[in-house]
Parts: sequence; structure tokens; C-alpha cells
Amino acid sequence: MVSRWSCVSVKITCLFFYGFAVFATQGGPSNEVNLLDSRSIMGDLGWIAYPKNGWEEIGEVDENYAPIHTYQVCRVMEHNQNNWLQTNWILNEGAQRVFVELKFTLRDCNSLPGGVGTCKETFNVYYYESNDDDDRNIRESQYTKIDTIAADESFTELDLGDRVMKLNTEVRDVGPLTKKGFYLAFQDLGACIALVSVRVFYKKCPKVVKNLAVFPDTITGSDSSQLLEVLGTCVNNSVAEELPRMHCSAEGEWLVPIGRCMCQAGHEEVNGSCQVCKPGFYRSALQTKACSKCPPHSFTKTEGSTSCQCEHSFHRKDTDPTNMACTKPPSAPRSAISNVNETSVLLEWSAPEETGGRKDVTYSVVCRKMSAESKQHEPCGSHVRYLPQRTGLSNTSVMVLDLLAHTNYTFEVEAVNGVSDLAKPLRHYVSLNVTTNQAAPSPVTVVKRGKTAKNSIAVSWQEPDRPNGIILEYEIKYFEKDQETSYTIIKSKETEIVVDGLKPSSAYIFQIRARTSAGYGGFSRRFEFETSPYCKSQDQGRVPVIAVAVTLGIILLALITGFLLSGRRCGYSKAKQDPDEEKMHFHNGHIKFPGVRTYIDPHTYEDPNQAVHEFAKEIDVSCITIERVIGAGEFGEVCSGPLRLPGKREIVVAIKTLKAGYTEKQRRDFLAEASIMGQFDHPNIIHLEGVVTKSKPVMIITEYMENGSLDTFLKKNDGQFTVIQLVGMLRGIASGMRYLSDMGYVHRDLAARNILVNSNLVCKVSDFGLSRVLEDDPEAAYTTRGGKIPIRWTAPEAISYRKFTSASDVWSYGIVMWEVMSYGERPYWEMSNQDVIKAVEESYRLPGPMDCPTALYHLMMDCWQKDRNSRPKFDEIVSLLDKLIRNPSSLKSLVNPSNRVSNLLVEHGSAELCAFSSVGEWLDAIKMGRYTELFMESGYTSLDVVTQMTLEDVRRVGVTLAGHQKKILNSIQEMRVQMTNATIPV
Ligand code: AMP
Repeated sequence: MVSRWSCVSVKITCLFFYGFAVFATQGGPSNEVNLLDSRSIMGDLGWIAYPKNGWEEIGEVDENYAPIHTYQVCRVMEHNQNNWLQTNWILNEGAQRVFVELKFTLRDCNSLPGGVGTCKETFNVYYYESNDDDDRNIRESQYTKIDTIAADESFTELDLGDRVMKLNTEVRDVGPLTKKGFYLAFQDLGACIALVSVRVFYKKCPKVVKNLAVFPDTITGSDSSQLLEVLGTCVNNSVAEELPRMHCSAEGEWLVPIGRCMCQAGHEEVNGSCQVCKPGFYRSALQTKACSKCPPHSFTKTEGSTSCQCEHSFHRKDTDPTNMACTKPPSAPRSAISNVNETSVLLEWSAPEETGGRKDVTYSVVCRKMSAESKQHEPCGSHVRYLPQRTGLSNTSVMVLDLLAHTNYTFEVEAVNGVSDLAKPLRHYVSLNVTTNQAAPSPVTVVKRGKTAKNSIAVSWQEPDRPNGIILEYEIKYFEKDQETSYTIIKSKETEIVVDGLKPSSAYIFQIRARTSAGYGGFSRRFEFETSPYCKSQDQGRVPVIAVAVTLGIILLALITGFLLSGRRCGYSKAKQDPDEEKMHFHNGHIKFPGVRTYIDPHTYEDPNQAVHEFAKEIDVSCITIERVIGAGEFGEVCSGPLRLPGKREIVVAIKTLKAGYTEKQRRDFLAEASIMGQFDHPNIIHLEGVVTKSKPVMIITEYMENGSLDTFLKKNDGQFTVIQLVGMLRGIASGMRYLSDMGYVHRDLAARNILVNSNLVCKVSDFGLSRVLEDDPEAAYTTRGGKIPIRWTAPEAISYRKFTSASDVWSYGIVMWEVMSYGERPYWEMSNQDVIKAVEESYRLPGPMDCPTALYHLMMDCWQKDRNSRPKFDEIVSLLDKLIRNPSSLKSLVNPSNRVSNLLVEHGSAELCAFSSVGEWLDAIKMGRYTELFMESGYTSLDVVTQMTLEDVRRVGVTLAGHQKKILNSIQEMRVQMTNATIPV
């Protein structure tokens, strides 16, 4: 038995030695703090074993002579083993959870001969908590069991022979601990164990510096899954950006860092600490990590600088970042120039050469004016305006407005930047001297209403802020509210006026402007004043006022009449009301006087229908009966028939119709003629009876002209009229034209085809319209400028640059005279339009028609003066014709045929007349072809014989009409002259 025991003992000892060799290579991690390590205790461990024959301590040393404390027990052959080994008191150092690491060997019971029945292969571990170390006699029941420990690896005798070591390591945790310390105890119930090492430790999260915060050693929590939140402390010279925190896990690991600390300004982070910036370096913002070199033009001589100081004459604006270079104010702007326009000055300059190192350069202007009295410079005052503004200009120009006229100004244009204020009083500017010019007055701004009556309003106003000179007069424009197209202008030298002739209870709009020698200023804004309501008693009280108004009206009318008699013809007329006041009425931009009307272009009406209804009467279609078609107009047929208006006698009218399928524009253009015609009231202007617009077809109803158009009428009645009759017709046309030009209307298409003749041979001007007049006219041809113009009737300036005036109408009138005197001959015969333009340009003019009185031909030639201002006016034409009619003998002298030829367009006249090869051809050319047969029958078969004919001969042939006789004889005379000229050597 003993030998077996000793054998076992020896073997266990050998085993233990090898086991130690393995153990010696182990070491605890850094986050473990040992409370007990049996290996590290030099002397006797002093653990208590009971019974005494149970656990026994075996002292050994390792190869380094370090002690090895091994407790072993191996009473496997005996029953009822209960061997306890109790450690010393172990202080837990505040740890609530500790770990017990056991290293041991255990003998495989199967390898033991005969002891299988009692042999155990486990042992138990207990602990007992205590606040002090004098609890030596602890009862079994007082212990708390930690665990039963079994070996992962047990060994056999064979293993010993092979010298294979089977050392087990088991770790158990204990907790939560609540007292200062505890005892451990190992209970053996009959196993063969060698307890080689016992290590007791707790775990901690070791002190660490993370995000510039120090986190101290932290003992892990009592629970294996517990995370302890730990607050960090910022390292020196650092501040918490966000409270730094970390979490200590049960395994002693730092987890989930939150927040951080930042080095204070003047310090930078180096390896987890904050170090001071060296001289010449600075750190200001917490956002930048490292110390930076001082920016240009700045310095620091101390450690730990948070910013750098600017060098002399350099500055830093409060809002400039500390890493920005120190800067200077800019130099002065360069190359400044001024451009004066009346009382405005445009100042322009170039950017300064030196911006001072900044991008925020702006400009400001200081304005000084030379005082007229003190001859000293003084500030310009707040009334001066600057566009876009006076200061903070980002562009290199400014418009200065509302300066005084004729005044010397000095402008200083200063360049400034963000540090200019810091560099004060230093200013860098360029200076400009400017003298303003004459200027119109500024607008009147203050207009007040005075006494108001039912027909009048007193209005007063203040002189404009900047008269810019002596105010010569004011112009007061007023009109009834919403009736702007019809307004009145009164001129006054005073700053108040009573405006009368107004409607009661009506709102009127007033606008006033001043005039100086420099012209008119702008109108004031609109002021709205209302007349008083109609009231009898008030009205009676106003009788004297009315009387005055009536008197004034009579004076006004008298003045107008006098004025008109003085020979003014143009549409602009004035009537004196008061020495200081004059009044003009306007309608759609045209001046209106009572009795003297002015033509209003229907196009100035926004709604053309409004113009039609203003100037043309609407006739019910039931009043009209269309009887026959008398012509064709551009827009449809022209008919005639009776018009029966209620309460009026029946008259025959011409009815112009607008054909079906017209466009809106065509309707407008068609009715425009009525809008124009309806404005005229003159015996030599075709009279408008009215329009039919409310039913279809749309119609224009005019007086009926029995003889139709003049050109056709003359051709039909060739040679039938006396000169006086012809001049009478011309006088009528001239009179109608005088009326039109007085109305300010330019016809543009005056031609015999557009004159209508009634049964009394009264000629009336017709065919009115706007642009369409010319579109409508088959004679109109397109010019190089694109317009359509009746070339043969039109003055050269109107052809070449569309200068249509009453003077160009006078030219056309000259052509009409020629048409009339030649009984409807085509002007310039069959010459092409181009040749006509060329010939007229080369000063050729139509020859005097046959039998044309010299006086009339002279008048025609006057109408064809190249210089339009040298042409007679229509009233002069009317006067001259009147004179001729009153003195018929002045019409006796006829145009000399030789003169005619010399004036005739050369290529046309002589060449053609000489080229006639037969009598028939000649008669055709002079539109007398109907007599060819008679000439042949009478033996006048050659031109030679014809040129010998006398009046008697012509009559004998059978030409009975006096006009035709004249025409034929005149042509014969022309042929004779040409033949004579042809024989004269040139
Ligand atoms: P218009 O469209 O005005 O050129 O007229 C075309 C033609 O109708 C004219 O050439 C005249 O022959 C005839 N006509 C126009 N108006 C009248 C009128 N009031 N009286 C007689 N015939 C007219």
C-alpha cells in the first residue's frame, strides 16, 4: 500500500515540476490586476489545510530559483474524504467582481489500481466574504460555492512515462462582492490533485488618453454585461468641445468614445497633449489644429499667441479672419472723367492701382458746390440724387442728378475698402471740377385745389424745387377723368388759376409743368379734383362768374377768328384768353377750337369702332334702298339708291359696301374712311351721310355724285367745257384741299380719279383712308422703299423719302390741274414709272395741255417746284383761281405750242410725234382715232397733207365738237413746229 502511495506521490511530484515549466510561460493581460498570485509569494503561503492529513504544501523552486507553492492531495483509496484548503484573506481592492484562475493536474481514476470505487476526478471551490482577516475558523456551511472543477485533461501513469504534462487551467468569476475581502477554499472529496497555482484578479479599463481627454483606471462593473460610463478630463491647455465620455466594459475594454477636448487657442495638439505655439506662430480658432505661421504683414513675438499683430500701417477688420493678411486702404481711383448733361453728371473712373490687398473696394462720392454768394465750397445738399447710390458703389461710375444749372461743382471720388475706416484720417480720392449746363425745370410737385364751384376749380401750385432758371410760364393740362384723349392746356405766368367751363360733379385730372428758357420741365404727377354738384342757390350766386366766363368765351372766339383770318393754316392754333393765360383744346393729340376742327387720325383710338361712332352716324339699313351698281371699290361694290331718314326728305346716296368674308382688319380699314370723311364738312369734300355697321353688309353712305369720277367724266366730255368751267372745277378742288390742309389732313392720293363730280359740275375730293388709300389705288406702284405710291401724281420728296405733306398734296393738285386741262389725259402718257421719276428728277415737267391758259400752266409749274416750300399753299391757289375767274381775260393767253414742246419730256414728245407713219396712227395717239375714216374719205391720207389743214378743213372733214377741233389743230400745229425744228441744223 505504502509503496504504491509513495510511488503515486513521487510521480505526482514529477508531474508537478513539468506542469510548472508550462505555467512559467504564462502571463496576465495588462487590464488584469492581481489580488493574489501564489507564484509571486516568496515565503510560506500560510494557507490552512484541515484535516491535517489532507492538503499538503510542497515547496519547490523553478529553474530561476523562484518558489513554487503547490498544494496537493491524493487520498483516493480512502472513503469519505473531505479535505479543505483555505487561503489567506484576500483584499478585493474595491472590485466587485473578481476572477479565480486555477492551474492544476488531476489523476485519471481509471489509471489507479484498485481505487476506482472511492477515487474522484473533481474538486470544489468556495469563497467566504469578510471585512477583515481574522475569520480563521469558517464553517463549511458559511462558504458559498463557486463551482465544482473538473479537469479538461487528466493524466495516467503512462502519461508520466511519456513525460507528457496535462496541466489544466480553469477560471471562474466571483461576484458581486460586497465586503472588503474574502477567503477562498478548495474542497477535495477524494481526488488526486496538485494545485499548482492560484491567481485571483479583477479586471479594469486602464487609464487612457483619448481625444485629448484622460480616462482613469476604471474597475469593471459587477455584472458581466455591464458598461460603465466614464467621464474624461481634458488634458492640460485643452477644453471640452463636447463632454468627453467612454464606456468601460466588463472585459476591461474602453468602448464607444463620445465628445472630445480641443487644445486652447495658442496651443496645438501633439501626441495627445496640447503644446504652446512658438513665437511667429499662432493658433486662434479651435477649428484649426496646428499653430500657423503669422499671415503676411503681421507678427507675434510671444509664445502661445492666439493671433498676430498687424505691421505698421496695415490693418485688420474685426470681421477679417485671423489667417488673413493685414491690409491697407486702396490708393485713389484713377483717370476720372465727367460727362455733363444739363444738370446731370456722369462720373466715371478706373479702379485704383493699389487695392490694399483687399477685394472689398468700393467707391463713394463727395459733392461740393461753389456757393454763388460766398464763392466758397459747400455741401451739395440732400436734393442731389445719385444713381445707383452715393456710397458703397461697386461699379466705377455714378450718375449725379438734380444738380443746379450753371453751377460749379467739385466731386471727390474716393476708393474705400474694409480697413479705410481704421486708417482714418487718411483718404485717397480723385477730384473733378464740373460746371453744369442749362436745364429744364424740375417737375412741379405740389399742386393744391382752391375754391371749387360746379363749373370751375381753382388750382394753385408751388414753383418746382429746381427751377434751373427763371420760370417763364406754366402749362396746366387738364381733362375729365377717363377722357384723356380730349384735354385742354392753359398757359399761365402765375402759380394759380381758376379753370372754368367744367361739368358739375365731375372729376378732372390736372398736370402742371414749368417752362424756362431751357424748355419745359416734366409734368407733375396727376392730381384729381372734383367740381361741386349742381345746386340752384349756388348757381345763382355764380351768375357773375358765368357772365365773366361768357364774356371770356366771346373774347376767345373773337381772338380765334382774328387769328384764323391772320392766315394761319396749320392745325396748331392758339387763342388768347388772358394776357397771362392761353387755352388750347386737344382731342386725341390734336388741338381743337370751337368752330375750327382738326382732323383726328382714327388710328389714335384704341378701339377703331369708337372712332367710327364718334364721327359717323349709324343709319338703320331699312332707310336705304339699293337700286343700282355704279362702281367697284376695293372693299366691294359701290351702289346708289334713295335714303329715307325719318323726318327728312329723301335723297339719293352712294352706298359703298363691304363684301362678305372680310377680315376684321378689312372692316376696320373700310370704316376708317367713314371715320375720316365724317370729320369733314365742306362743299368740296364728299359728304358722309352715315354708316351701317349693325347689320350686314357694312355700308358707308355718302352723297351721290351724279357724274362719277372726274377723270372719266372729263374723258367722256373731252373739249366740251369752257375754260371758266374748268377753272371753276379746279377752284372747287383747291377749296376742298385748303379745308383738308387746314384740318391737318394730308390726302396723299389726290388725282382726278379721286374727285367726284355732281350734276352741277361741283367737284368734291373723295377717297379717304389711311395707308389703304394707296393700296387701293390701281395707279399706286411700289417704290424702292417698299411703299405703294401713285408715282405720276406724287411729289419727288414723297416718292424718295415718304415726306407726305400738304405741300406734296399741292404737287398732286398741279397734276390734277393738268388732267383737267387736258380732259383726262394720262399724265406723262405711257412713260414708265421709272422714266417719270427720272425725268422729274432731271427737272423735266409736263408740258402745258393744249389750249391751256398760260396763267394756269404757270400755276401748275409752281405746284411742281422741287423745293416744297416754294410751292403755293392751297389758300394761295384758291385766291389765284378766284382772281382768274373774276378776271376771265387773264385766261386768254394760251400756252405757246413751241413752249410746250420745249418743256415736254424730250424723249416722249418729239420722237413719238415724228415717228407717226400714218394719219390713223397720229389720230389714235391724240385719242381722236374715231375721225380716221372721215379723214381718209376727205382725202387727208398723208401727214404732209394733214399739216396744211386749217380749222375750216377740220370742220369740213366732219369734226363738229369744238374741243376736238382744237385738239386736232393743236396737234397739227405741234407737228409743224417739230418739222421746222428738225430742219434747223443743230
Ligand atoms: P371708290 O371706292 O371711292 O374709288 O369708288 C369706286 C367708284 O364708285 C368711283 O370711281 C365712282 O365711279 C363710284 N363712286 C364712288 N362714290 C360715289 C359717289 N358718292 N357718287 C357717285 N359715284 C361714286
